[in-house]
Amino acid sequence: MSRLRVAPLLGALVLGLVLGGCAPAPAPVPAAGRTAVPPPAAPPATVPTADTSVATSADAAAPAPVVVLDPGHNGGNAAAAREIAREVPDGRGGTKPCNTTGTETAGGYAEHAFAFDVAARVTALLTARGVDVRSTRADDDGVGPCVDRRAAIANDAGAALTVSIHADSAPASGRGFHVATSSPALSASQGAPSEALARDLVSALTAEGFVGSTYRGEGGLDPRDDLAGLNHARVPAALVECANMANPAEAAVVADPDGRRRYADALAAGILRALGR
Ligand code: ZN
Repeated sequence: MSRLRVAPLLGALVLGLVLGGCAPAPAPVPAAGRTAVPPPAAPPATVPTADTSVATSADAAAPAPVVVLDPGHNGGNAAAAREIAREVPDGRGGTKPCNTTGTETAGGYAEHAFAFDVAARVTALLTARGVDVRSTRADDDGVGPCVDRRAAIANDAGAALTVSIHADSAPASGRGFHVATSSPALSASQGAPSEALARDLVSALTAEGFVGSTYRGEGGLDPRDDLAGLNHARVPAALVECANMANPAEAAVVADPDGRRRYADALAAGILRALGR
């Protein structure tokens, strides 16, 4: 795939989403039967000076914060082995594969589908709270984009923050989420701002009843230097491994729509907290 258009993920996908059948729709639709309402236009330069008490408030005029969600992998990756194996800069002077297929549960529920579904749910929740949500991929049957491109989408959007959504594959006895940040930091945004975002995500996941990883990191946090998407980010960035899909109990949760709703509720809450909203 060449340039992926950064389109808003589709709020309407959430309610009617059929797994694996994620056809792109033309525009976000906040609720059934309603036409998407564009953000309020900036007031004209010649606003009358009288009666400013009813003028558009600063809040209404302020642009919505941009959040870029990055659902891991893609449904077409498995059929594009050569394309996704292409080496791209890893952000630390080396290279990494453009993308990978991701993992799946023993029952065959794929990580890319999980990530896309959770991202759609988070998009709906954040959009309802006035956030301008964009995605690194518009559907779940394409290829890529490469990990460096995913970071560039967030950077180019001037995002307030970006969150990558994944689920892990680890020894079956391990369980729990972990939230990765780029460490050692390669930019100001990878230091305290990304760490604060990660902590907000950990807090929200914990409040939702999820437990921090028993096999990676500490307290649900996992600073690391080998994730190219995080290394390339120049806005606050974190990558959430929501669960270990090889763990039978967690596989059941990620494959359950209500489990994915819980992950989405938690991620949206953590993002809103990080945004100060
Ligand atoms: Zn992944």
